[in-house]
Amino acid sequence: MRAKQIIGPPLERFQAKVDYTDTCHLWTSRTFRGYGYFRVSGETWLVHRWIWTHTNGPIADGLHIDHLCEVKNCVNVAHMHLVTPLEHCHQPHSKWISKEQAARTHCLRGHKLEAPNLSPYQLRVGKRKCLSCARARSLAGHYGHDEAWIQEDADRRYNLLEESLS
Ligand SMILES: [Zn+2]
Ligand SMILES: [Zn+2]
Repeated sequence: MRAKQIIGPPLERFQAKVDYTDTCHLWTSRTFRGYGYFRVSGETWLVHRWIWTHTNGPIADGLHIDHLCEVKNCVNVAHMHLVTPLEHCHQPHSKWISKEQAARTHCLRGHKLEAPNLSPYQLRVGKRKCLSCARARSLAGHYGHDEAWIQEDADRRYNLLEESLS
């Protein structure tokens, strides 16, 4: 079993570098283009792929991991799912996306996924993603704010959007 070989010290090293918030598990060590990485037995792994493999076994050839939470350095396996490259590259009419997306009524931080709180860019590619969270996250990424800050900022933006409607 391939998965067996990586149980043990690598997991401890991994966990020591993760900030376990109530929602996302944030990688706090080195990143490349927003994605965390670390070395295991001389191999460099993207950490979300590593933890997925560690938890669920090898990723079938050619499949990608998509973050439902849109947080690139999140390593919470519950926030990930496997997609084909085509789905990842935004195929709005894919059956998989419409079923998955239609079932989502709220974002992970509890905001309603309804206009105007939907990212226009994501909508164009067939995804319903929380605009308030997307804006808070991009600022947080820029300034290095933590999850608590994102929740607060996203809530504030969401409330402003709601007020603008009433
Ligand atoms: Zn997450
Ligand atoms: Zn949200």
